[in-house]
Amino acid sequence: MNNFLPYSRQLINKDDINEVIKVLKSDYLTQGPNLEKLELNFKKKVKSKYCLAVSSATAGLHLSCLSLDLKKGDFLWTVPNSFVASANCGLYCGAKVSFVDINEFTFNIDINLLKKKLVRAKKQNKIPKVLVVVHMAGSPADMFQIKKLSKKYNFRIIEDASHAIGARYNKSSLVGSCKYSDVTVFSLHPVKIITSGEGGIITTNSIEIFNKIKSLRSHGILRDKNHLIKKNYGYWYYEQKYLGYNYRLSDIHAALGSSQLKKVSYFVKKRNEIANYYKKNIKEKNILFQKVLKGSYSSYHLFIIQFKKIRNESIYNKLFNDFRKKKIMVNLHYLPIHLQPIYRKLGFKKNQFKISENYAQKSLSIPIYPQLKKKELDFIIKTIKLLAKKYDLF
Ligand SMILES: *Cc1c(COP(=O)(O)O)cnc(C)c1O
Repeated sequence: MNNFLPYSRQLINKDDINEVIKVLKSDYLTQGPNLEKLELNFKKKVKSKYCLAVSSATAGLHLSCLSLDLKKGDFLWTVPNSFVASANCGLYCGAKVSFVDINEFTFNIDINLLKKKLVRAKKQNKIPKVLVVVHMAGSPADMFQIKKLSKKYNFRIIEDASHAIGARYNKSSLVGSCKYSDVTVFSLHPVKIITSGEGGIITTNSIEIFNKIKSLRSHGILRDKNHLIKKNYGYWYYEQKYLGYNYRLSDIHAALGSSQLKKVSYFVKKRNEIANYYKKNIKEKNILFQKVLKGSYSSYHLFIIQFKKIRNESIYNKLFNDFRKKKIMVNLHYLPIHLQPIYRKLGFKKNQFKISENYAQKSLSIPIYPQLKKKELDFIIKTIKLLAKKYDLF
């Protein structure tokens, strides 16, 4: 085998390419018909009332926070074990960011720690305005419990579902239905479940949130006459109501996203087959896999293995490099956000969120994507066993 095996990658076929070429030959490279098509088909799929495609999930998180009126003096909470964008959206709005640690088995937000932090926050009058819930690796967090807490303590919920296109809370509802949240955000980056090159998707069931995000996505400008201050005007007239951005998705990107959307079920099924193959063939008591909540269905953006016996960074480093020497491009998802230099400057410290820190010292994402072959999977499994033996990790 000569090829590198990345931890995840896109799968593009002829149909995808043809859809992009069609746009290039058409009149509209941006703000054309493919954007609406993508939004319509996406909301049909997840059963949300509204859907908006944007330039990235990062942009989507920013706009979602703005639509919930997050601002200076407010608090946003998320988990340390996520991509930095889950927390940065709070900083963009001038809010204070804080973290709730993860559960050591689900790798998602720990409900008991969330409860405890809410009790403390209530006493100090510091209840967050927004909680960003991450569905780590595509495995849904316990949204039922989180929704209950949001009613009791009065905070809003954004689901960062960047990993979770095609994931389900249970048999009947897909992530993105916003059954338990105000807004859900997905990423269409090439390493995620489906791609548009760069891109993000926002779903919501609130017309107010939808209208605000729609305007903010394009400079804060309104053209719909129901929302304008001036009543009699010509076709050229528009009003800027908010300080918005250009977070639009081009029609070139939207065409690719739209074509890829048709394949979500196939991609996620394949990812689940690979995950099951790994689980069946790497059964060791000192290797931990992510626990998926009963009844829910993961999209397996990542397949994470945790070596419980790794005791220090030097072993982790050696293991990591040995995998890479074999062209198995393992990676860590994620370095805890609170330990990043800009978050340390805000006052966060080592040992503050120990479960995420412990997770990061022992966990690796191994390759998972639909086109992986059985031969490659067996090579990866063999290498895991070989290296675990070498470093005494079984
Ligand atoms: C990838 C990712 C993002 C950012 O997605 P982009 O589309 O690249 O902006 C945000 N949150 C999480 C958890 C991610 O994995």
